[in-house]
Amino acid sequence: MHFKMINLLSDTGTRPTPEMLKAMWSAEVGDDVFREDPTVNALEAKCAALFGHEAALFCPSGTMANQIALKVHTRPLDEVICDEMSHIYQYEVGGYAFHSGIAVNLLRGDNGILTAEMVEAAIRPRQDWLPRSTLVVIENTCNKGGGSIYPLNRIQEIRSVCQKNSLALHLDGARIFNALVETGDSTASIGAEVDSISICLSKGLGAPVGSVLIGNQAFIADARRVRKAMGGGMRQAGYLAAAGIYALDHHVERLLDDHANARQLADALAQLPWVTNIRPVQTNILIFDLVSPRTPTDFLAYLKQNGVIASAFGPQTIRFVTHLDVTREMLERAIEVIMGY
Ligand SMILES: *Cc1c(COP(=O)(O)O)cnc(C)c1O
Repeated sequence: MHFKMINLLSDTGTRPTPEMLKAMWSAEVGDDVFREDPTVNALEAKCAALFGHEAALFCPSGTMANQIALKVHTRPLDEVICDEMSHIYQYEVGGYAFHSGIAVNLLRGDNGILTAEMVEAAIRPRQDWLPRSTLVVIENTCNKGGGSIYPLNRIQEIRSVCQKNSLALHLDGARIFNALVETGDSTASIGAEVDSISICLSKGLGAPVGSVLIGNQAFIADARRVRKAMGGGMRQAGYLAAAGIYALDHHVERLLDDHANARQLADALAQLPWVTNIRPVQTNILIFDLVSPRTPTDFLAYLKQNGVIASAFGPQTIRFVTHLDVTREMLERAIEVIMGY
């Protein structure tokens, strides 16, 4: 029997909707290395305006957008301050050292959320033998933190510390819209507090490819050169940018449905004696532990046999992610399957 797998693995797995595909194939394109792709230009202008910044740069991935930001904000032997759960530290192959020759100063926040005091205490005095603290990276929502949200006032406090100490502040906003639809804060209010932002179009927003790095003119001019050096200068990328524009226009508000689905899943799990330590569910990510002797390997194999795929996130830990391609019916079916384990 053929049936569609229910994908709770990741919100990166979405396929373009028919309407999105239509926007893609009717895109007007040109050579973006010469900045002659009108659709890429429109996406970049749209993102810059959304967050109240001067300019933006379309990138093939969120990793590249973050790595470019690290490179432009720092010099070798500098240090970036971030939470130990940060994507830039955990999941970007140590690229901060490879591309930028910088160190990381890791802090342990609350599910990936730092305080201004922690950041301030981590800033190193200027000494010849110490790395130079020049950049802070915050992640909103924090993936490994279970989709946790930075309150806007917390970002403002961190911003003040950065300004007082001449540090740049970069926001890894791969899932910034998941945060904003929950808090009701505007894109501009977040944009005003940071020097640069990376956003992912290919996560919950449902585009097949692409991220956008946002900042001021000088920052983006440098970023464009670094992108080219990394091999990320694309040609008729407007076909992809069109998907991003469509996603921003049509797939932001509906993230609330994914959040409601994640909460419903969490409520079901809370009834199960073999589930423990369910992390607070603020957005579309749900992280929990299995009570031993149950193991992720066995649990995930059972799920897969029953048409549900998900991933382990630690020796006893499972992560579920809800997104555009998990419908209400699929969610209910997934809950049935989980309850039967
Ligand atoms: C997914 C993700 C990225 C970028 O991922 P790519 O797969 O390279 O597009 C960056 N930061 C966070 C928090 C993410 O979840």
